[in-house]
Amino acid sequence: MDNIFFASPQQFTPDNKTVTITGQEAQHIAKVLRKREGDEITVANGVGSHFRCIISLITRQHVQANCLEEETRPHPQNQKILALGSLRKRDRLEFAFEKAVELGATELCLFEADHSERSRIKADRLEMVLTSAFKQSGRFWLPKLTMLDSLEQVLLRFSDFEAVMAHEKVEVAQPVIPKNKNVLLLVGPEGGFSDFEVELVEKAGGALISLGENRLRAETAVTALLSLFLFR
Ligand code: SAM
Repeated sequence: MDNIFFASPQQFTPDNKTVTITGQEAQHIAKVLRKREGDEITVANGVGSHFRCIISLITRQHVQANCLEEETRPHPQNQKILALGSLRKRDRLEFAFEKAVELGATELCLFEADHSERSRIKADRLEMVLTSAFKQSGRFWLPKLTMLDSLEQVLLRFSDFEAVMAHEKVEVAQPVIPKNKNVLLLVGPEGGFSDFEVELVEKAGGALISLGENRLRAETAVTALLSLFLFR
């Protein structure tokens, strides 16, 4: 598949006939890929559309293109939220989020779990990871990023969702979740979930799920858990 570029809906004219690409995206088109006026590119707006466009103008700061064709996809019917306890290691966290986008999470939520070690996490950096994975995987809807202070807040925010917590200390391999339900998939930080957090999920009617007998790193658990929910 050709490269897909991202421009937010505000970067398109109201009639979606022209798009202006700025920043790193524009530099990538102009300097790395050495595209020229007249070349074709695909631009995603993150809210359901891919546009086939022809570059009309390239300057140092921006790339302007005329949109010829639009391909749209409806928002996935069922939502799949991946909520991950904040990880200390930034590269592992970014890997987990990248894979979660590739595997179809519709929203990513990072929360301070009881055993999360405090670290500085920049939302704009994570947004970049999400956007890059969104483009790479050819998705039409850019997953949203939410950052919350505790698992309690996560459960409150997504109280209508079927919560599924990956937990080493259970033996249930596949809880029965109706196909048409929105799911909230929970993975703990390096230190795992606290007993209090496990209780919270159980009290909220959530299910605990095992991902096998081996202890997985959190980012591996993210990919294993999302893989169980690929086709829903
Ligand atoms: N020492 C931690 C503990 O005892 O919980 C290990 C945590 S593990 C590195 C990070 C997270 O990955 C866990 O909180 C859990 O959500 C998930 N996880 C890892 N291995 C798992 C397994 N075999 N089954 C279910 N979840 C698992």
